[in-house]
Amino acid sequence: MTSRLDRRDFLRLGLSAAAASALPGCGGGDFDERYTEEDVARLAEQKRAEKARSGTGPFGPQVYRGYRGLAELPWFELDGDGNVRCVAEDVPRAIDMHAHLGMALFLAPELDLQARTPRVRHMLDCDGEEPGCPLDLDVYANANFSPSDLNALRRMAVAQFTIGSSAAATHTIPNLLAEMDAVRVEQAMILPISFGLPFGDDLTETWTSAIRKAGVERRLLPGASVFPRDPEAVDKLRRYAADGARAVKLHPNAQRYYPDAPEAMAIYEECGRLGLPVCLHSGRAGIEPERVHRYMLPRHYEPMLRRFPEVDFVFLHSGSRDLADTLPLAARHENVWLGIHGQGVSALAEILERVGPHRLLFGTDWPFYTLAMSLAKVLMVTEGRPGARWAMLRGNALRLLGETEGSA
Ligand SMILES: [Zn+2]
Repeated sequence: MTSRLDRRDFLRLGLSAAAASALPGCGGGDFDERYTEEDVARLAEQKRAEKARSGTGPFGPQVYRGYRGLAELPWFELDGDGNVRCVAEDVPRAIDMHAHLGMALFLAPELDLQARTPRVRHMLDCDGEEPGCPLDLDVYANANFSPSDLNALRRMAVAQFTIGSSAAATHTIPNLLAEMDAVRVEQAMILPISFGLPFGDDLTETWTSAIRKAGVERRLLPGASVFPRDPEAVDKLRRYAADGARAVKLHPNAQRYYPDAPEAMAIYEECGRLGLPVCLHSGRAGIEPERVHRYMLPRHYEPMLRRFPEVDFVFLHSGSRDLADTLPLAARHENVWLGIHGQGVSALAEILERVGPHRLLFGTDWPFYTLAMSLAKVLMVTEGRPGARWAMLRGNALRLLGETEGSA
């Protein structure tokens, strides 16, 4: 049925969605009031200053030899297979509010999400060689990707939309659960993305049914995603909520929409009615194509905070490299929660200082990185502060999800 021309169009769509989702690229260009030359300069300055400051903050140099190197920290040890375990019995059982499973989209063949494999190939495969890659916890997480790692990431993303990714085949339910067990993570929110593709774009359904099939709904909480320009988005949200979704993920970069776009407002409003938190990728990570940077500037995330004060908005990555412009939003609006994944340890200490512990949510972005990497940073910034540690790792997530201890 599909002509060659159609296939090429579909392929282009899939590849550009892949490229937009995570990946290095170039070409921004067109400036207007939504994206200015000053915005470009701010990101460049953030990168420069972060690099210069790494290792000079309150925790000193924080460079480890791969994820395995984290075993040097007092809370961790290596097990017989060389995997990091959290051995500190007083670390609260954590709830990871930001994780994913393996992605097979568009033309890519289905993955077996029930498979156990000998090792996980994280998207930053820092333990792939001996010794592991230098892992700096005092910079934004993606600064740890070398140019060749970024090329591998680009190839992986394209494969996830076309021939299938062998790394994604290791991003399975049993592999995630094993890592959770090793580092005292009790539950993880699984956040899909809807890319708006003509077919093969059903991560919400695929992941929810895989979680059910494995019988692990108590540990892996299914999230849902809709595409903002899908005219059926609101109906789909209601269906997903009725089917047990616990949060909604939207991604202004991968979905190429302004977070304050009119079509998104209807989605936020419905999430409010359904009692579902809205988890938004926020701020510029700095490795995506520049042409999508205009969608992710913190100032575009404010109108809906004002308009829907009853809706909980989780800013995943705390605004990424636009943290400095995100913190004022959190100060002005009580309905902002900050997902802390990605921020370096000095930045995380600053977030904790400025926002306090009660709206910060532990997250890992697995399988991008190991769970232990994010956990290590939280443990460092909350040393000697058990109340803040419990809130960030567990208590805040329970409150956001409307659960009390014991009902989970
Ligand atoms: Zn993510």
